[in-house]
Amino acid sequence: MDIINTKIVKINPNNIDYEILSEAALIIQNGGTVIFPTETVYGLGANALNEKACDKIYKAKGRPGDNPLIVHINSMEELNDLVEEIPENAKILADKFWPGPLTMIFHKRDIISYKITAGLETVAVRMPENKIAQELIRLSKCPIAAPSANTSGKPSPTSAEHVIEDMLGKVDMIIDGGSCEIGLESSVIDITSEIPTVLRPGGVTKEDIEKLFGKCDYDPAIIKSDENIVPKSPGQKYRHYSPKAELILYKGDLHKTVKEIKKDCKRYISEGKKVGIIASEQTGNLYDEGIVKVVGDRNNPLTVASGLFNVLRSFDSSEADIILSEAFDDKGIGKAIMNRLEKASSKKIELGKLRVLFVCTGNTCRSPMAEGIMKHIIDKRGLDIEISSAGISAVDGQSASKNAVLALKEMSIDISSHKSRQVSKEILDRADLILTMTSQHKEILLRSFKGLEDKIYSFNIQDPYGGSYNVYKACSEEIKNEILKILDRQII
Ligand code: AMP
Ligand code: MG
Repeated sequence: MDIINTKIVKINPNNIDYEILSEAALIIQNGGTVIFPTETVYGLGANALNEKACDKIYKAKGRPGDNPLIVHINSMEELNDLVEEIPENAKILADKFWPGPLTMIFHKRDIISYKITAGLETVAVRMPENKIAQELIRLSKCPIAAPSANTSGKPSPTSAEHVIEDMLGKVDMIIDGGSCEIGLESSVIDITSEIPTVLRPGGVTKEDIEKLFGKCDYDPAIIKSDENIVPKSPGQKYRHYSPKAELILYKGDLHKTVKEIKKDCKRYISEGKKVGIIASEQTGNLYDEGIVKVVGDRNNPLTVASGLFNVLRSFDSSEADIILSEAFDDKGIGKAIMNRLEKASSKKIELGKLRVLFVCTGNTCRSPMAEGIMKHIIDKRGLDIEISSAGISAVDGQSASKNAVLALKEMSIDISSHKSRQVSKEILDRADLILTMTSQHKEILLRSFKGLEDKIYSFNIQDPYGGSYNVYKACSEEIKNEILKILDRQII
């Protein structure tokens, strides 16, 4: 490919330099290519009504011809000229989410070439919110076709540095407008069907759309990992967003994830590999080896979304041989985060749910109370954790003590059907996390059984055995506080 002289300019989105932006608009009008910031990721733009100009986009990106482009507009009037009809649902969505990170699929008019739609009868349209993007479209006086401004297959660019890395010498102009707020590409929604369907998860979530229409589906291809299901959005069939190094995604409970990543990290390092780890604020300081990058805060998934592509790209310069990544909760914007991570990964490890075992002496007071309390809390929080209890010197089959049952009844927890059991190797082996009521319990278990060192922790809860109802009540409160502390930390 010929090398183009790329002009790099800087524009402040809050104080636009119109002289520079008009120059960019002229390039678009003359059939050239301009990279510009949007609130999602940087876009590689050309006049959407000029086939030759659009050809340049595919060339610069090395994008397969069967992966269609999104057309960016600046007003609803512009939309009328491009699409056959604007369904009622689309008007409602546009009203609510445009300008913003939402792309909708419409039946195209003839003015839109098959080059843009990769042969499809439908066209994807979005109205971006970023002021530079909006003004560029307005000044260019045409809709702008603009896929993400990365080399095909690489993570999308969220800063001008990323763009320069991939596109210097391949486009006419790059507008540096700072970093992209959202950091993940737009949601692609099909509104040509009766029930709106998410073809690519993004900033506007399925939950957002359900609030408006009651119903919204995911395209089956993005929720099932079955290669035989053809995605309705052609871009979803490609491996994507990939750093140079192989990425392994660890799915399932976070506690197990950290343990497994630490174990595998050690092994890869011993094989002479340079290992990268994608962690979160909650876990970053738990890893003592590898190149650890904190992508964001699990309690604020928008930070994970906006940091993800930057972190993926940064492993290229740190020359990691392999990247081990934590997974994230896939609700709301988390669905888009996980969609990108899954596409970036070449291997997934399913770790399943956490199995917690509480241990006390007789398994009739403290540990059954702990079991009941934790089950109650995780039920309310919608968490999936297996919880059980056992005693170090228990008689099998005894009920929980009367005051333990009564104390928990006050918390609306029923442990009346509890049956005590003696701890055994099988029971201990099954648990990922063993929580004993005192440090003595822990010591006894460590002395009597092998291989528990990495998964056993103790509370400091004294035995209420034989005490009054109030003693049990106080004990149950203490246990509840310890459990809440663990759950709030999300990891031990
Ligand atoms: P990008 O602009 O790089 O974020 O990619 C555009 C995305 O929009 C790709 O995943 C395409 O598959 C999708 N897309 C574009 N046009 C259509 C269409 N007509 N139907 C379904 N998906 C589309
Ligand atoms: Mg893309």
